[in-house]
Amino acid sequence: MTDETEDEPDVPPLVQTLCHNCHGSRYTVQTVHAVVGGVGRTVQTSRPCPFCEQGTLAGIVPPV
Ligand SMILES: [Zn+2]
Repeated sequence: MTDETEDEPDVPPLVQTLCHNCHGSRYTVQTVHAVVGGVGRTVQTSRPCPFCEQGTLAGIVPPV
């Protein structure tokens, strides 16, 4: 008979969560207004994610 309650849980020492904002790409899409060829239109550009630096968050972070 073994007592499994004293065993360490099978969790790696460093747990990270994929960033919910950029989905791990480290960049987020920003839609801006631009005039291209004399015609106003929306253009999508990318900018660094304001919530993470490496595409992951330290620990277990639930989506809010
Ligand atoms: Zn991010």
